[in-house]
Amino acid sequence: MAFLWAIIILAGLGFIFGIVLSICAVIFAVKEDERIGEVAKLLPNYNCGSCGYAGCAQMAEAVVKGQEKKLSKCKPGKPDANFNKIIEYLDKHPNEDGTKIKVEI
Ligand code: SF4
Repeated sequence: MAFLWAIIILAGLGFIFGIVLSICAVIFAVKEDERIGEVAKLLPNYNCGSCGYAGCAQMAEAVVKGQEKKLSKCKPGKPDANFNKIIEYLDKHPNEDGTKIKVEI
């Protein structure tokens, strides 16, 4: 009989913690700029770190946030295969206030 109570109590605690975690996930959700993922897809995705960032996702984040202007810091990247596509993408997807992210090769 005692183990039955233990199971009921543990199931109840699991249910309560599940609800608390679900509420926290909604309250503390971090909305990421979807352009970061799109720019990361247009980079070579070698994650080599030659650009000075830990990987392509970090380089893409810096580009979208306006912290990195020189796409050619990505050594394996090519103008036709990567940089021009990124410039074109960013030109079509401005910031919420209408300003465009300026980057160069
Ligand atoms: S140099 Fe280019 S391929 Fe290498 S991690 Fe940086 S963005 Fe990615």
